Amino acid sequence: MRILIVEDDPMIGASIRSGLRQDGYTADWARDGNSAELAVATHEYDAILLDLGLPGRSGLELLAQWRQKRNMVPILIITAKDSVDDRIAGLDSGADDYLVKPFDLNELAARLRALLRRRSGRATPVIEHGPLHLDPATHEVRLNGSAIKLSGREFALLHALLQAPGVPLSRSQLEDRLYGWGEEIGSNAVEVHIHALRRKIGSELIRNVRGVGYMVPRQP
Ligand code: CA
Repeated sequence: MRILIVEDDPMIGASIRSGLRQDGYTADWARDGNSAELAVATHEYDAILLDLGLPGRSGLELLAQWRQKRNMVPILIITAKDSVDDRIAGLDSGADDYLVKPFDLNELAARLRALLRRRSGRATPVIEHGPLHLDPATHEVRLNGSAIKLSGREFALLHALLQAPGVPLSRSQLEDRLYGWGEEIGSNAVEVHIHALRRKIGSELIRNVRGVGYMVPRQP
């Protein structure tokens, strides 16, 4: 899952980014309105964490513009305590939720999971797929009931594939899900993680689609 952080405060931005990465998300960080605009125009995000007070274009302007373009990416506003009018304006402009600074990273993570869950239209956060069970909240993965230990990237890869059973994802789409800006990507990084994942969950659960990429087959 790729998340965009739009935040000009270096301390807050850095701590959110490292928290999200620890949770297995791919996190990009835009420090002003123009970079945020560019990021959204060139990448597909699963959610955006949006500060309202930004240099250049304000968070509210960005929000209004994205919604006007029918970009319905889930947006969580992160804002200062005193700006209740802004929070209301943000919700009215199409934000999905807000969080007041300073906030606990665990709360941010929980709100984010709730947003992503709502977007995917599932009442429960857990994904059940044949013998697989994946819980995005706890990062717990089970195969036929037994817990399996996955690395952050293996988890992110499996999660991405399980969100679209039957849909092949290309190597570059998967790289996009696994790596944020400026993170070094080895030329066969996706293959390496797929290989490791198959060793843990069995090779038949992830199919190679020749010339296209990888997919988890739909359940009959
Ligand atoms: Ca700010």
